[in-house]
Amino acid sequence: MLILDGKLVAAAVKETLKAETENLLKSGKRAPQLAAILIGSNGASETYVASKVKNCEEIGFTSLLVRFDETIDEASVLHKIAELNADDSVDGILVQLPLPKQISEQKVIEAIDPSKDVDGFHPSSAGKLMQGLPSFIPATPYGIMMMLEFFKLETKGKHAVVIGRSNIVGRPMSILLSSNIPYGNCTVTICHSHTPNLKEICLQADILVAALGKPEFVKADMVKPGAIVIDVGITRVADDTAKKGFRIKGDVDYNEVAPKTSAITPVPGGVGLMTIAGLLKNTLQAYKTNTGV
Ligand code: NAD
Repeated sequence: MLILDGKLVAAAVKETLKAETENLLKSGKRAPQLAAILIGSNGASETYVASKVKNCEEIGFTSLLVRFDETIDEASVLHKIAELNADDSVDGILVQLPLPKQISEQKVIEAIDPSKDVDGFHPSSAGKLMQGLPSFIPATPYGIMMMLEFFKLETKGKHAVVIGRSNIVGRPMSILLSSNIPYGNCTVTICHSHTPNLKEICLQADILVAALGKPEFVKADMVKPGAIVIDVGITRVADDTAKKGFRIKGDVDYNEVAPKTSAITPVPGGVGLMTIAGLLKNTLQAYKTNTGV
């Protein structure tokens, strides 16, 4: 059984991006810049944004963190996005989700200029992805594709089952795996909360992607022997014995599932790190398009 180590793959991707950034700086160009908007003080969101900023710095990108209070109104957020859209020194814009109730996620996503949409959530990016046109790929599925490529896990002709149909993970993942691209060409089944015979379908999966947000939901009796299992789930589960008072759990019961698989991603240390790698790659791509490099 192969452990799909996200740390290893993300480090390799970051090394390449760092070298490219160094070359840009040497030739007198500015560094790529990512702007992140963080609203409120949700613990997980704080951690994700801090990690994105830190990773930018590690590879020589610059970053801009815009913070708003939990009670900020929608118009002010949209105004800030318009400002960042117009700022030539900003290549990529991300708004950390989830948002407080008074702010429409859809309006925020659609306000970002598609040329700076490094999260790949804008309908324009999603439409291009669906039609197989060059576009920003949502960072998590993008990171998973990089992982499949890094470990040369053959996907052609395989049956992939994706649990979860969100716009940020499940749906774009299913599109990529079914596309006629390297590490695509799977026959894909997408499952969701109304799928009645989930276990039966999962048992047919050569590649199983779990992205439903239910800790340790996927058990050994749902997994075909020798399957590749990709665990996207990240849930904080309260645990008094842990230093922080919680532990991060994936959607897969790793201890019982891992021995049955041919390859599996751990949580933490798997897909989460690849998501950041995807975001950084998208930011460099945005920079190149926006500056004409
Ligand atoms: P979401 O809540 O938007 O979507 C969950 C999906 O799972 C829905 O489509 C729903 O129909 C499906 N679902 C829920 N219960 C189900 C069940 N019992 N059986 C079958 N399907 C079921 O979640 P999301 O934003 O796609 O995130 C999913 C998980 O991935 C979460 O734990 C999230 O924290 C995590 N996540 C991790 C990363 C990462 O970098 N590793 C990135 C994004 C999201």
